[in-house]
Amino acid sequence: MAQNVVVVGCGVVGAAIAYTLSQNSQLNITVLDQQLPARASTGAALGVLMGVISHKKGNALQMRLRSIQQYNEWIPQLEAATGRPILYNRQGLLNLCFEGEDLTTWQALATLREQQGHTLNLLNCAELSNRYPFLNLARVIGAVHAPSDRQVDPAALTLGLVEAARQRGVTFHWEAAVNDIQVAADNGSGHAVRVKTSAQPFPCDWLVIAAGLGSTPLTQALQQGVEIRPVLGQAARVKLPEPLSLSDFPAISGEDTHLVPLGGNQYWVGATVEMPTGDALLEASELVWKQVWQRAIAFCPALEQATVLQQWSGLRPRPVGRPAPIIERLPGYDNVILASGHYRNGIVLAPATAEKVQQMIQADALLGV
Ligand SMILES: Cc1cc2nc3c(=O)[nH]c(=O)nc-3n(C[C@H](O)[C@H](O)[C@H](O)COP(=O)(O)OP(=O)(O)OC[C@H]3O[C@@H](n4cnc5c(N)ncnc54)[C@H](O)[C@@H]3O)c2cc1C
Repeated sequence: MAQNVVVVGCGVVGAAIAYTLSQNSQLNITVLDQQLPARASTGAALGVLMGVISHKKGNALQMRLRSIQQYNEWIPQLEAATGRPILYNRQGLLNLCFEGEDLTTWQALATLREQQGHTLNLLNCAELSNRYPFLNLARVIGAVHAPSDRQVDPAALTLGLVEAARQRGVTFHWEAAVNDIQVAADNGSGHAVRVKTSAQPFPCDWLVIAAGLGSTPLTQALQQGVEIRPVLGQAARVKLPEPLSLSDFPAISGEDTHLVPLGGNQYWVGATVEMPTGDALLEASELVWKQVWQRAIAFCPALEQATVLQQWSGLRPRPVGRPAPIIERLPGYDNVILASGHYRNGIVLAPATAEKVQQMIQADALLGV
């Protein structure tokens, strides 16, 4: 018999879960979001997908690499299914290295990645100025380029996942805030039976909480509070009088500041990382934004001529006292899965997160639970 899966939250994580689970015709999937899709953290993100270029190891690295591999397949599938293009930069990622940085760390990482079967190229300043003449290399001592890493437009991606999942039978409800979860006790462990919005109840065999910052109150309602707090990020979309280059080039990072080419003469620049202090409300700091903007101008001086078309801030969901992300069964419950708290890496980790959720649900189906 078909099982009802209710996913709460339709940022990139909830949408990726819905799309992945929709391959299974035995699952009846409903996604609920209190607003429209991709409006929270996902709508603010720059979509930089750091895999080979990241210093991660073990499972954290594997999840990133698996996700990027999955995106290489998903993007053409979603474009074909929806008829809408999704900005997906296949030029890799370029990270600039500055005076004072130890290049041997990058050399060691490049050697390790080669042993693992991946490519990470070190570029000297002559190669950099030849390939990317618009860069100011005054303080730059070299760069690393990961040709297989990517960048994607997070909102277009999420909307594509929603549309393609809908075509495969997933039901979406917008402006449907979950305000109650009804629970039954089953063999000593809790079991979510129904999720309620103000409009209607939704019966569930599985409940997946992918609500980003909204996951904290939902887990508290289940007496298993998981604390996830916001870290603010500011970014901007800018337009230059002329494109920086006539050929495609990768998203470029310098001192944790990204320059993302959007096509034509438009670019994203960002993002700040602003931590909460105490219980004070997190507000975007003009000073911190200026620091990021100045760092971008320092390596790409043409930005001084830019017109800012749009500037925004978003809140990254960061777990408190434990590493990001959280992908696990909620303790005390046999059918509640938490897929949340992806902090700075929700876009790059969404496909691998969805795969893990799928494995948890399928493992139980095989065991006949
Ligand atoms: C400026 C900025 C830049 C970033 N850049 C990158 C990047 O380059 N690469 C990267 O990988 N990551 C990046 N991130 C991080 C990334 O955006 C997040 O990790 C990711 O979007 C988290 O996705 P999510 O689906 O878990 O959460 P969200 O996108 O926040 O979605 C959660 C959803 O749950 C809904 N919800 C909450 N509570 C309820 C409820 N009770 N009922 C119904 N719905 C509910 C919300 O409305 C929301 O739509 C960036 C973030 C910011 C702010």
